[in-house]
Amino acid sequence: MKKFVYTFGEGKAGGSADMKKLLGGKGANLAEMTNLGIPVPPGFTITADVCSHFYENKHTYPDTLEKQVSEALKKVESIMRRKFGDSENPFLVSVRSGAAVSMPGMMETVLNLGLTSKTIPSIIKLTENPRFVFDSYRRLIMMYSDVVMEKAAEIEPENRIGIRETLEELIEEKKRGKELKEDTELGAEDWEELSEHFKEVIKKQFGKDFPDDPQEQLWGAIGAVFKSWNGKRAVSYRKIEGLPDEMGTAVNVQAMVFGNTGDTSATGVAFTRNPATGENIFYGEWLLNAQGEDVVAGTRTPNPINIAGKTQNEKRKLSLEEAMPELYSQLDKYQQHLETHYRNMQDLEFTIEDGRLWMLQTRAGKRNGPAAVKIAVDMYEEGLITKEETLLRVMPSQLDELLHPTVDSKTEVQTEVLANGLPAGPGGAAGQIVFTADDAEHWTKEGREVVLVRSETSPEDVHGMHAAKAILTARGGMTSHAALVARGWGKCCIVGCGVLNIDRINKTLSVNNTVLNEGDWITLNGTKGIVYEGQLPLKSADPQNNESFQKLMKFTDEVKILGIRANAERPEDAVQARTFGAEGIGLCRTEHMFFDPERIIHMRKMILAENEDNRREAVMDLLPFQRQDFYEILKAMDGYPVTIRLLDPPLHEFLPQEKKQISQLAKELNLSEDQLQKRIESLQEMNPMLGHRGCRLGITYPEITEMQAIAIFEATAQLTKEGVKALPEVMIPLVGTAAEFEHQDAIVRKIANQIKKETEINFPYLVGTMIEIPRACITADEIAQKAEFFSFGTNDLTQTTYGFSRDDIGSFLPTYLEEKILLHDPFQSLDQSGVGELVTIGVEKGRSVKKDLKIGICGEHGGDPASIEFCHRAGLNYVSCSPFRVPIARLAAAQAALANS
Ligand code: PEP
Ligand code: MG
Repeated sequence: MKKFVYTFGEGKAGGSADMKKLLGGKGANLAEMTNLGIPVPPGFTITADVCSHFYENKHTYPDTLEKQVSEALKKVESIMRRKFGDSENPFLVSVRSGAAVSMPGMMETVLNLGLTSKTIPSIIKLTENPRFVFDSYRRLIMMYSDVVMEKAAEIEPENRIGIRETLEELIEEKKRGKELKEDTELGAEDWEELSEHFKEVIKKQFGKDFPDDPQEQLWGAIGAVFKSWNGKRAVSYRKIEGLPDEMGTAVNVQAMVFGNTGDTSATGVAFTRNPATGENIFYGEWLLNAQGEDVVAGTRTPNPINIAGKTQNEKRKLSLEEAMPELYSQLDKYQQHLETHYRNMQDLEFTIEDGRLWMLQTRAGKRNGPAAVKIAVDMYEEGLITKEETLLRVMPSQLDELLHPTVDSKTEVQTEVLANGLPAGPGGAAGQIVFTADDAEHWTKEGREVVLVRSETSPEDVHGMHAAKAILTARGGMTSHAALVARGWGKCCIVGCGVLNIDRINKTLSVNNTVLNEGDWITLNGTKGIVYEGQLPLKSADPQNNESFQKLMKFTDEVKILGIRANAERPEDAVQARTFGAEGIGLCRTEHMFFDPERIIHMRKMILAENEDNRREAVMDLLPFQRQDFYEILKAMDGYPVTIRLLDPPLHEFLPQEKKQISQLAKELNLSEDQLQKRIESLQEMNPMLGHRGCRLGITYPEITEMQAIAIFEATAQLTKEGVKALPEVMIPLVGTAAEFEHQDAIVRKIANQIKKETEINFPYLVGTMIEIPRACITADEIAQKAEFFSFGTNDLTQTTYGFSRDDIGSFLPTYLEEKILLHDPFQSLDQSGVGELVTIGVEKGRSVKKDLKIGICGEHGGDPASIEFCHRAGLNYVSCSPFRVPIARLAAAQAALANS
C-alpha cells in the first residue's frame, strides 16, 4: 500500500526535514522537530502526491487514503489521550496547506475543526472559558463557510459579496446595536447568538446546513486546502515566482493546543538570537493566558521572554523566565537544540497549555542587515557553518543598512507613505524642504538639515546636492544625473517621483491633497524609494568599526573571481572607494570634474566657442584642473589601474538655462546676452543623448582629446618620477565603429609618445573603449583589433537597445512595472536576455581577436547583485560601481563565484 499519510507526535515521525518535496516545508519541519524529541502537537501530513492524484482524477482521492487518515487520527488520539469529536474528552484540529516552497498566505487554512453541538459543552468544561469557545466556534463557521462551502465549491457570490463579508457585517450590526466598538468587547452570549445566526444565513445562502459532524468538517477542510492549490491567488503567485504547477501541496492536520485556558497557559514568539542586533541572546515575547494571534496582532502588549531581553522600561514586567522558570528552561533547551540542528537562527512559536510546553513552528528567522552579518560571522567562529555558508547567509542588498543611515523600521511601518519614486541613492535621511540649490547650501551652513526638492537637477545644483542630506526629484531615471551623482557620494536620493507637484514660486510641494511648504520636514527611504511626511528617526551606520562586517569583507576576497573597481572622479571619493576595498577605478567621468561652480565656466566656454582658436584657448584653461585631479586620483590608487574616460558631456547638461546665469556668462565671455542666447539655441539638439557627445566630440574637436591626453600623461610622468605606480587606462566613449576608435587612439598615443620623449620618463598605459552602442557589440571583433580593453557602458547600452531615454523612463516605468510589461527597471538591473545578449556577443567577438582582452562593466549595473552574477557568468574581469556599493559588489561577486563553482 502506497504511503500517503505520515504521522508525527510523541518523539516519532515518519518524515524528516529532507522530505520537503513530499511533505512540504511545514510538514517536513514538524516531522523533524518531532524526531528531535521536541514536543510538537501531534498530527499527520497528507502528501503532495495526493494533491497530484486529486487533480488527475476529477477531485477524488486514492482508495486507501480514507483508511490511512483514520489510522493516523487514531494515533493522534492515543497521544492526546482524547478523541476527535468526542462528547466527553474531545480535541480540535487545524488543517493547513504546505508546499515544498513556501507560498505565504496563498492557500487556505481552517482552524478549530471538531467544534460541534456535541463537543462544545465539554470544551467549555475543559477550558472554563465559554467566551473563548464560542468565539472559536464563530471563527470556525466563518472560515469554513468561506473556504469550504463557497470558494472550494466554486460558488460565485451574488453582488460579489462573499459569505465572509456577509457574516462580518452581522458582527458589525451586533456591535452597533450594543454601541460597542471592538470585537473584544463582545461576550460569550454574543458570540453564541451570532454563531446561531451565522448558521441560519449559511443555510439560506447555500441550501445546506453548516456541518455538525466532525468527520465531515475534517474532510471538507482537507478537500478545500487541496483545491486552494489551484485558487486564483496561488496560481498567479506561482506564475510570478516561476514555480511549477505540478509541485502540489501537502496538507497538515494537527491537534490544536490553547494558550488561553487560564493562568497555567501562555503563548509566545521567539528568536534564537536577537534579530535586530544579531546578539547571541535568546530573544522573544510572551503573553499569559493568550492565543498566538494576541502576540502578533498587537492587541495586547507582550512581555519580554527573559531577564536578559528586558529594556530599561520593562524592568518591572514579568518575564517567562521568572513566571514559569521550569518551562522557560525547557524552552531555552529546545531553542539551543533547534539552532544547532538547523545551523541557522530560528524563529519559533510556542504555546503552553495547562503547564505543558508545545513547539508549534520553527523556521529560519528573518533578520535585518547588521544582524545578518553578525549572526553569519559569529556562527562561523562558533564552528556552526563554513566560510562559504557565511558568505551566502547575507543578501548583498542588506549591506546598505550597514553602509548608510537608515529610517527606523519600526516607525516606518506605522507611517503613511506620502509618495513613491525610484530608489536612486540608498539609505535614509530626513530634512527640511528647500527648493533651490543655493538655499540648500545656505540653510546647511546655518546648521539646518535639508532635503533638496527639484523637478530635475542639473550641474548648477551640484553644490546644493552636496550640502543637502538628501535629494528628491519629480523627473529622471536611475541613471539620470541626480541619481549618478548622489550614488557616487553615498547620498540618499529618490528620483522620478511623478506625483510631486512642485511650485517653485510659492515654494510649495503638493502630493494629492497634502501641501508642504519650504521648511517642512520630510523623510526619505532611498533604498525603497519612499517619501514620508515629517521627521522619522534614523539609525546611524559605522561600517569601519563593525568588526563582523570587516571580517565578512575579507572572506569575499578569498572566493570571488571578479575584480571590483569604483566609479569616482573626485580624489576623496577614490580614497573612500579604497577603504571599501576597491581594486582600482573603473570609470572616471572627466566631465563630472567640472560640476564645481568655479570650474563649470571653463567647460561652458569650451562648449560655446565658435571657432577652433577660441576653443583651443578654452580647452587649455581646463588643462591645469585636469592634470591636478588625475595626479591626485592616480596617486590615491597607487598600484591600481585608473580608467579615465575622455570627455562625454551631454551638452544640454552643461548649458545655462536660467536668465541670471545667462547674463552672468555673457559678461564673462564678453558677449551680449542676445548673442549668447543665439549661440545656446544653435547648440540645442533634438535628442541630446544621441547627439554631439562621446567620441563624436573628440573627433570633431581633436584639441579636446589632445588636452586630456596631455593632462593624463603629464600627471602620470610626474607620479612615476615620484615613485608612485600610476596605471592610467584611457577610455574612448560612445564608440560605434572601429574607425572612431582608431581616430582617437592615434591622438592619445601620439601625445603619450610626445610626453615620454619630453620628460624622458617611461610609463605604462592602455587605450581602450567603452562598449555602449549596440553596433559596438556586434562589431567588437573589429574594434578589438586596436582597443586594449573594453568596458561595457550598460547605461547607454540599455538606452540604445531599448530605445528608452534614460532620463525620461520615470514617466512610464511605474505603469510598465504595474502591468508587468517590465519586471524590473532595466537601468537598475541588467536586462539579461536583451542587453545581456549584446554583452555576451561583445565579449565573444572581442576575445576572438584578443584571447585575454580585459573586459569590465562601468554602467550602474556594476553595483547590482543580479547583474554582477551575470557579469561573472559572462566572463568579465571586473565590475565597477559607486564607492558605497563596492562592499555590496564584493559580496555579490563572491556569491556569484560560489553559485557557479
Ligand atoms: C554608461 O553609459 O553606462 C556609462 C557608464 O557612461 P555614462 O553613464 O556616463 O553615459
Ligand atoms: Mg555612457
